Amino acid sequence: MEYEKLVEYYERLEKTSSKLEKTRILAILFKEVEENLLDKVVLLIQGRIYPKYQQIELGIATQLMIKALSKATGYSSSEIEEMFKEEGDLGLVAERCVRKRKQIILFKKKLTVEYVFEILRKIGLITGERAIDKKISLISELLASAEPREAKYLVRTILGELRIGVAEGIIRDAIVEAFMPNKEEGLKAVEYAWNILSDFSEVAVIAKKEGIKGLRKVKPVLGRPIQVMLGLAAKNIEELIEKFGELMVQYKYDGMRAQIHKQGERIWIFTRRQEDVTPQFPDLVEAVKKHVKAKECIVEGEAWAVDPKTKKPLPFQKLSQRIHRKYEIERMVKEIPVQLNLFDIVYLDGETLFDKKLKERFEILKKVVEEGEKVRIAKTIVTADLQTIEKFYHEALDEKQEGIMLKVLDAPYIFGRHVGGWYKIKPVMETLDLVIIGATWGEGARAKWLTSYLLACRDEDTGKLLPCGMMSTGLTEEEYELMTQMLKELIVKEEGKNVWVKPKIVIEVAYQEIQKSPNYESGFALRFPRFVRIRYDKGVEEVDTLERVKQLYLSQGKAG
Ligand code: AMP
Repeated sequence: MEYEKLVEYYERLEKTSSKLEKTRILAILFKEVEENLLDKVVLLIQGRIYPKYQQIELGIATQLMIKALSKATGYSSSEIEEMFKEEGDLGLVAERCVRKRKQIILFKKKLTVEYVFEILRKIGLITGERAIDKKISLISELLASAEPREAKYLVRTILGELRIGVAEGIIRDAIVEAFMPNKEEGLKAVEYAWNILSDFSEVAVIAKKEGIKGLRKVKPVLGRPIQVMLGLAAKNIEELIEKFGELMVQYKYDGMRAQIHKQGERIWIFTRRQEDVTPQFPDLVEAVKKHVKAKECIVEGEAWAVDPKTKKPLPFQKLSQRIHRKYEIERMVKEIPVQLNLFDIVYLDGETLFDKKLKERFEILKKVVEEGEKVRIAKTIVTADLQTIEKFYHEALDEKQEGIMLKVLDAPYIFGRHVGGWYKIKPVMETLDLVIIGATWGEGARAKWLTSYLLACRDEDTGKLLPCGMMSTGLTEEEYELMTQMLKELIVKEEGKNVWVKPKIVIEVAYQEIQKSPNYESGFALRFPRFVRIRYDKGVEEVDTLERVKQLYLSQGKAG
């Protein structure tokens, strides 16, 4: 396939902002492309040469590109820099320079997708001595053969800024449109395969060659991270108990999600964002080899830094020093020991376990893991009793962990964050719905707006509204404007810069902590309250009660 053809598609995609139109254009392309090129085209359409999980970057910065461009077109670096200042996009500069080359090209060849892809891959793999010179040579070779429009997209691809507005969702939909006769089932199958393979280029090829059956059969590849299951914030525990009955309740450890693959003696550790951090954790690699008794498996857990004296977690910044460490790893292993608490297993000796119920997966996990000092099973209870759960929550907070996870026993492993799987409870995540009872005019440029808001909860017994904090952050300018318009209608009294308003507007507020405070009538004050959104759906009689504020205060583990 000629590269020029792909460029035509880039142009068509860039021109439209409609998602549907982009999907349609891509589906045509995916259908048209020969089978052995489809994977390359799907990557190139995403502006990639390697799938994301491989973490291979071309490593070309603007300055290098300017040099390559200069070499290929005869313009000096400073001329190119001038043009770059004007255009703000090296792709456009490349197009301009190639259109009016200052030097004659002797051996110009027609670029094909295969050739471009091969050269770009080479660039990604060059390391060692003179790597930069070699990269510049290869790029200028490509640019020497490029037509102006081709140069524009080549440069953008190499810089990792393709800018044609094709997000992952559009690629997914285009694969469905191109190869799946049944759209609904097809979408599910494509999503499933992508969650496991983390690479649309491979998913597209399977969809084209083997259809929906092939996609459904996809199995994890050891050494390649899968997408993970996540938790939703639980609004309250009672509701979950009512809905699901018994729950699996676990400590929510304060560390790093670790997806661990084992294949014989080979171990990989991936973060939630699919970074391979195996080299940074040789201690965990050894511990997993010793304590995870399976030939092949994928287990998940949380790795957290342990304070050797108290056995409680060290601040996350400590662990973070290990996650990003490139040198002196052995010293870090000693200074910042970690513990791994496993909570799930999704693959075991050739069998995928995603469809199994959590309670079954957990039993399998317990069989596979032989606990030791560094590798443990997450602390777990199974119960439908509210008080037991609350006690467990306090215990987790006393241990200085983040909170608890509430998991639905019969739920399969669901990729991403969805209803009916995992729920989390941690202090900072809890928001409050409070009503605005007063406000203050801003200063300087903000004098036209009411910018601080006095918030109140409700005493359920008396119906009285009790102030519990003053909030002034988290709003955009538009939101200040809107809030001011709404509040002005409700003013009942003014005193200097302060106004009192009819309690009508309910807002959702996040905060860092609840403190005891004699300054407010409720007896509590929110620390760092931050605007989340207006709750148009709630009336003043539905704002959070003093009792809930008190409960949240207690759940921080500060008082008994
Ligand atoms: P969040 O980052 O607040 O959405 O919470 C989800 C994260 O909690 C997961 O990605 C894990 O890293 C972490 N976590 C800690 N303990 C557990 C547990 N027992 N079960 C599941 N996730 C946990």
